[in-house]
Amino acid sequence: MFNLVIFGAPGSGKGTQSERLIEKYNLHHISTGEVLRDHISRGTELGKIADLYISKGQLIPDELMVKVLAHELDNNPEKTANGVIFDGFPRTIPQAKALKEMLAERGTKVHAVVGLEVPEEHLVDRMLKRGQVEGRADDNLETIKKRLDVYHNQTSPLKEYYLEEGKYHAIDGGSTVETVFDNIVKSLDSIR
Ligand code: AMP
Repeated sequence: MFNLVIFGAPGSGKGTQSERLIEKYNLHHISTGEVLRDHISRGTELGKIADLYISKGQLIPDELMVKVLAHELDNNPEKTANGVIFDGFPRTIPQAKALKEMLAERGTKVHAVVGLEVPEEHLVDRMLKRGQVEGRADDNLETIKKRLDVYHNQTSPLKEYYLEEGKYHAIDGGSTVETVFDNIVKSLDSIR
């Protein structure tokens, strides 16, 4: 079993790299952003609450997010058996602590954290382009700026948290998709 957290600012390439990593390592992908967008499109109660936060570029409260994640883990026991890529979770220190506990209760842990490091000006460009291609409502300049603030204030401290745990693998996320992927694989293969 191999559980991976893919970590980085919005627009750093987490989703793109996750798609490749799930194939390479036969992992189950849990993207909390995708889970929430799915609820929004289906108009569920969770979707209605999530929309209030996502449209403002804010984080959904930790307590609710932890419940969403636990549901994703327990709903797919056969799919998660080989390991999971957590994409977009954790986004706060309390979420990281909750993830540690949740996995320990299930007899496992986070094995590695891949941190995609991309210069800020590239992030904005990438998200604006994605907004045009995929039509994500939160990929507009005003919301992007708020999401980057939230990232710096609430999410980036996780780098230190996982460095202290000896799990953080810094990856230059600024080059091509192929080069970034090769560098992630090299870094992970050194610990597998
Ligand atoms: P993403 O697709 O990962 O960029 O997430 C899109 C939006 O969903 C974020 O800007 C947050 O509003 C919300 N979201 C996704 N994951 C989380 C999380 N772990 N904690 C809080 N909010 C989240």
